[in-house]
Amino acid sequence: MENLSVTLRHCYTSFSLHKPNRRYLVKPASYNYTQTRFSLDIKHESSSESLPTSVSLAFSSSSSELFPHPLTELSRCDDLASVKAVHARTMRKFDRFDLEWLISRYLEFGELGYASAIFFMGFPRNQVSWMGFLREVESFGLEKHRVLEEFVQLQSKGVNFDEVVLVMVLRICTVLMNQLLGFVIHGGLIKRGVVRSDALMGFYGRCVSSDIANKMFDEMPDRDDLAWNEIVMLNLRSGKWEKAVRLFREMQFSSAKVYDRMMVKLLQVCSNQGGLEEGRQIHGYVLRLGFEGNVLMCNSLIVMYSRNGELGSSRKVFDLMKDRNLSSWNSIVSSYTAYGYVDDAMDLLEEMERCGFKPDIVTWNSLLSGHAFKGLYKGAIAILKRMQVSGLKPNSSSITSLLQAIAEPGLLKLGKAIHGYVIRNQLWYDVYVETTLIDMYVKTGCLPYARMVFDTMDEKKNIVAWNSLISGLSYAGLVQDAEALMSKMEKEGGIKPDAVTWNSLVYGYAACGKTEKALDVIENMKKNNVKPNVVSWTAILSGCSKNGDFRNALKVFRKMQEEGVCPNSATISTLLRILGCLSLLHSGKEVHCFCLKNNLIRDAYVATALVDMYTRSGDLRSASELFRSVENKPLASWNCMIMGHAMFGQGQEGIAVFNKMLEAGLEPDAITFTSVLSVCKNSGLVREGWEYFDLMRSRYGVTPSIEHCSCMVEMLGRSGYLDEALDFIQTMPLKPDATIWGAFLSSCKIHRDLELAEVAWKRLQVLEPHNSANYMMMINLYSYLKRWEDAERIRDSMRSHRVRVEDLWSWIQIDQRVHVFYAEGKAHPDEGGIYFELYRLVSEMKKSGYVPDTRCIHQNISEAEKEKLLLGHTEKLAITYGLIRKKGLDPIRVVKNTSICSDCHTVAKYITVLRNREIVLQEGSRIHHFKDGKCSCSDSW
Ligand SMILES: [Zn+2]
Ligand SMILES: [Zn+2]
Repeated sequence: MENLSVTLRHCYTSFSLHKPNRRYLVKPASYNYTQTRFSLDIKHESSSESLPTSVSLAFSSSSSELFPHPLTELSRCDDLASVKAVHARTMRKFDRFDLEWLISRYLEFGELGYASAIFFMGFPRNQVSWMGFLREVESFGLEKHRVLEEFVQLQSKGVNFDEVVLVMVLRICTVLMNQLLGFVIHGGLIKRGVVRSDALMGFYGRCVSSDIANKMFDEMPDRDDLAWNEIVMLNLRSGKWEKAVRLFREMQFSSAKVYDRMMVKLLQVCSNQGGLEEGRQIHGYVLRLGFEGNVLMCNSLIVMYSRNGELGSSRKVFDLMKDRNLSSWNSIVSSYTAYGYVDDAMDLLEEMERCGFKPDIVTWNSLLSGHAFKGLYKGAIAILKRMQVSGLKPNSSSITSLLQAIAEPGLLKLGKAIHGYVIRNQLWYDVYVETTLIDMYVKTGCLPYARMVFDTMDEKKNIVAWNSLISGLSYAGLVQDAEALMSKMEKEGGIKPDAVTWNSLVYGYAACGKTEKALDVIENMKKNNVKPNVVSWTAILSGCSKNGDFRNALKVFRKMQEEGVCPNSATISTLLRILGCLSLLHSGKEVHCFCLKNNLIRDAYVATALVDMYTRSGDLRSASELFRSVENKPLASWNCMIMGHAMFGQGQEGIAVFNKMLEAGLEPDAITFTSVLSVCKNSGLVREGWEYFDLMRSRYGVTPSIEHCSCMVEMLGRSGYLDEALDFIQTMPLKPDATIWGAFLSSCKIHRDLELAEVAWKRLQVLEPHNSANYMMMINLYSYLKRWEDAERIRDSMRSHRVRVEDLWSWIQIDQRVHVFYAEGKAHPDEGGIYFELYRLVSEMKKSGYVPDTRCIHQNISEAEKEKLLLGHTEKLAITYGLIRKKGLDPIRVVKNTSICSDCHTVAKYITVLRNREIVLQEGSRIHHFKDGKCSCSDSW
């Protein structure tokens, strides 16, 4: 019996939590009731027939054995009338536990009025009980708000409640958000002399405004534990988390007891708001207050640290935990998978199983999403199998992760199999699964299937589904179809396009080079009250970048700024790529400043884009400095830096970066090897080139691409191993294309090997009959060998193929303006001054031993005329203009669209000595850095 009463007590405090058990427990007929009775001091002024409580509720100690115990009697009742009868007859015998049972029986028969009356008038008033009462009401399918209506009824019948009940009702008002009644109760409390209480603060905080609550709290003379905890919670709920943290800190100086659920809530908010510092401080309090043994708290700490990028700290908390539950394991596993550290997560899984915890669906799903995030579809499939072996069925969340994992590598067949599973297991009820299926079909390029899934969704079609298909069409280049679907979405689906919908159209037009059309869409967006956002503008920028439409890109960027849209890291990376391609170092530096000011520099992709911009713009020093400062460099960043050294012809430096990258534990990819082979090609490192080419295949499993092969051909050819290069072409695993033969032809031209050049020329006439560069190489070669007739024959062939000679130009940026020097056509306005300075330079140079290299002119003219033509080379004009206009010590930077001739190369070296200026000259993918009479390329180009 003793045990039973303990259980009953327990039931009381948790009220309905153990309802089914309680029913059985109170069933025994002979229940000896010996608890001390208590008295309720509720005064009522008038009595009402309808209220059973109108009979005195004052209980006295009674344990009469003459009557059966009321609980026994109550449990025998099968209708409302008999419950009422027992209630009326045995009124005196009820104590708090019996009353609860009585309430429960009334509620069972839907009699909320009697139940409420007993509750408000005769019942204990601690917090747990009223919450329990509300839960009980709800569990019988009754409307919670009616409890308050019953209270008002009681009041209108003249029942006068004391402040304890009023405070309790106010708490119910707070939970049920009944503002009006709350105000009335507040009035009642004032009448009873209660001006401040945490219940009032809670009510105002949750139902009116947190400012009033904060004010009330400030004016409270004696703040108890509840008040402190409540005010912190209130501020957390109303999103004022910084204020909440401040109050929490103040709370530490009072003697108030901190409730663990408040700390957990605080930590949750720190996780979602990026409050690492605050989270750390709370961790300090956790330790000081001795909560480190609290599993719930530790689990929250794990999540808080990992969400704030401190995975190491998450792990420390986890490792120090003495007791762990399944949720602790899931927290740490999901922390690792969120960062894509699937190997560590898998290790944890093994450990977890060793410790006797059976992974549940949450564990498996976070492992699946980790694999999906990293694009490791094989791993994801293996997880799915293990999950099924352990007896768990994949749910919709598992399926969506799996679909995401296979969408990127384009595993359509597998996607279709999963689609089959979805149908068999009726998971298509889940809209999220459906939309992910559409997305998978879109990404694997299977638009008809995407369309099919979309059409079967019927009325379930949500905006995500529409957007998936619209963007699919748009990305596939079917922008018109996308636009048609968008108007259908509005007309038939009744869904208004949002920014995502519009942005797919913007991207679609921009990607196919229709920048103007994309800008029109932006205007249309505005007309439809959708604000173009940073994604819209970035989409146009990346479209321009993809299509090489760099000039328009800068205009678009300016327009974006005019419209007050702040660029994000994606915008900045795209912009930097464009500036790099244009070699606009000055503008690039401005963007660098912007990144520093806006704290974007910590973004590894922005930092990589900056490294890329600096190398492309010929400022290798800044690129290296920046590269060194990037923490946790991504692979792309290493690739950029290696390519930078390749462009400058710095072979040993490039290889050193590659070796450091391997030491850092990164796995080189295809792009890395393009960079490394470019290093070898530009620096004539033939032996090393062969080594890397073999290593690439044997150790890293990278299949050679056309780029890799063309690097090899150029490397061999430029170094004079023409036969070996031809042998390579004839035995390479891929079909040699125009880039391969073009690389070979340029090598033949350098080494003036006409016989082999003609072999390449024969192929190129078929593969690339419209590339003027090939014709020019042949013309130059014939001219050099003084075979004027053959040169003329090539010129004729060029004319008959309607191939235009590409404009030759060089440019230099001075302040914000770009000055272009063309070989033919419009002259620069300052041409007179430039030639004057150039003649002066040449005469100075001649005194130092310079002899014009007239072999660079392949025309049948006199030496004097050749010398004159040499002077007109665009890079010479641009460099000279730079000397005139740019004072100071900054290097002169010139960009040229074709390769530099050996005379200009020599002249640049002389100038660095005579004028004590560095010159950086960029020609396509190579950069010459002239300094102190030498060039970075060591004259091997
Ligand atoms: Zn030249
Ligand atoms: Zn050079």
